[in-house]
Amino acid sequence: MAKCDQGYMCEVCGDEVEDITDSDLYLRYIIGEMEARYLMTAPERHLRCNPVLAQFIVDPEFEPVIVEGPFDKKLMPAEEIAAREELTTRGWRRLQEVRGLGLAISDYPLFREGNPVE
Ligand SMILES: [Zn+2]
Repeated sequence: MAKCDQGYMCEVCGDEVEDITDSDLYLRYIIGEMEARYLMTAPERHLRCNPVLAQFIVDPEFEPVIVEGPFDKKLMPAEEIAAREELTTRGWRRLQEVRGLGLAISDYPLFREGNPVE
């Protein structure tokens, strides 16, 4: 099969990232950690294949991710954990709904030039 027939492959596990709702790349784009111009070239990963970020998603619909070792969020100051959980969870919720909203990709991020989109 030609490369262009395939979706984006996860650089961690090698499986296809079948849906944007499971995309680490798009979550980082939504929360402002990645610029749009890198979306086409940056390596794709499943959310759960990037546990250092996924551990901050706190939602009943998302099975919690535990990180052991130096990147365990529990090693961070409580205020920083709370801030990251708030941002990452908001981003994850938005990731679940953006396609249904029919938004342009440029409207996906929570923030634009440092200001909240809402
Ligand atoms: Zn993966």
